[in-house]
Amino acid sequence: MLMQEVWVQGVDWDEELPLDTSTRVTTWFRELSSLPSVRIPRCLQLRKEVSSIAVHVFVDASLEAYGAVVYVRVKYQDGSLSVRLVSSKTKVAPLQSVSVPRLELMGAVLGSRLATSISDALDMEKQSYTFWTDSENVLWWIRGYSRTFKSFVANRVGEIHSSSSPDQWRYVPTKLNPADYLTRGVKLMELVELRMWWEDPEYLKEDESQWPRNVVDKRPASAVEEVKQKYTMKEPSKEKSAFMTTTTKIIWRLQPERFSSWNKLTRLQAWVMRFTTNCRSHQHERLLDKGINLEEIRDAEKLILKTTQKECFKEEYTAIIERKKLPKNSKLLSLCPRLDDDGVMRSEGRLKYGEFLPYDVRYPIILPRKSWINKLIVKHHHELGNHSVGTNQILSTLSSKYWIVAAREAIIEWERECAMCKRKKAKRTEQIMAPLPLNRLTTSLRAFARVGVDFAGPFITVQGHCFQPND
Ligand SMILES: [Zn+2]
Repeated sequence: MLMQEVWVQGVDWDEELPLDTSTRVTTWFRELSSLPSVRIPRCLQLRKEVSSIAVHVFVDASLEAYGAVVYVRVKYQDGSLSVRLVSSKTKVAPLQSVSVPRLELMGAVLGSRLATSISDALDMEKQSYTFWTDSENVLWWIRGYSRTFKSFVANRVGEIHSSSSPDQWRYVPTKLNPADYLTRGVKLMELVELRMWWEDPEYLKEDESQWPRNVVDKRPASAVEEVKQKYTMKEPSKEKSAFMTTTTKIIWRLQPERFSSWNKLTRLQAWVMRFTTNCRSHQHERLLDKGINLEEIRDAEKLILKTTQKECFKEEYTAIIERKKLPKNSKLLSLCPRLDDDGVMRSEGRLKYGEFLPYDVRYPIILPRKSWINKLIVKHHHELGNHSVGTNQILSTLSSKYWIVAAREAIIEWERECAMCKRKKAKRTEQIMAPLPLNRLTTSLRAFARVGVDFAGPFITVQGHCFQPND
């Protein structure tokens, strides 16, 4: 930061520094003499039976710098916990003016890159990583589609998505964020004593329920500024639901009944949607990638689910849009249905406050029992398990995303219908034995009815009579 400041002031190589800067530089150099008092505990894991290991990445930014710090949290089988600093990285903020939310996002990118290099070094699964930021903007951007944002945010959110999933990102208040020290700087002697830096905030040593509350549902006003113009039009307003604003556009929807595979249907629908969007946009805005990306497929899935729900639960859907009560005889009454930002009907179940659970588990998508889509999805999950997993397991994987009315019946019904399973489970035909020959039945079967004595040599048996060669 000092170097950057000197550079901006245009001080030449042989020139003396201005007084203010030079005192700060000398203080900094003087502090270096106490560098040997810094002791870094290098042991990341104690010699005990380990029950679980998790990695926590904290990111932060200020106008001067942005950075990330990584801790490893090890849980032992005797119930004890240890939290240790693994690595940290800081960068000076670029000279051209960049807003703090954007700097925060750059910090988040730095954090996800650092996490990738650490996961290679420690040979750990990236799913066990938790990312913490004190910026609500960053959280909101990460929970959105990268392509809806202006290019600065879009590129960085895209990079973050490629190495972590949005539900791995959590909110932490600034005063509990150790990455805050990276961005505002600490005196060396203070750093030696700083427990929060070396061993991380106390809350990581507590149970997950004691961690800072995860704020994810807020939509900060400054974050919306980064949304591209054409997508801000689509943003659902508070009065109307998202569906009402999007139906004004005609979306060419494929007929699901003409498909026998969920994958094929969603991918083709994604192609169709890209074609229609490209037709509507200017030439330089068109997406011309060779393949469709995951976001487009998810969009297509949402459209298919949304329209099916609208057809099958017509009354309920309009009631929710118009903010009326559901019909009294509705099957969905117990599910407390609500519409999400994209207009997909989800059940507001009892896991609403389970902040650690993925969004789809907390708010599963409601699927009608008698619809082709339902069948395709059940079939898809049945085939994912290679036709060999049981009804209960399919039910459990399905429930992590969908809420199917009478799901078990639907699964069993498909298991009976599946041609591959029918073939596998089919019984082999057995050969019918021929009737016994006549001579076995007409001759007497009493004991000693035929007797032979072996003097030497074998017996020869012909048609039930036995005699010796010389007989
Ligand atoms: Zn099968």
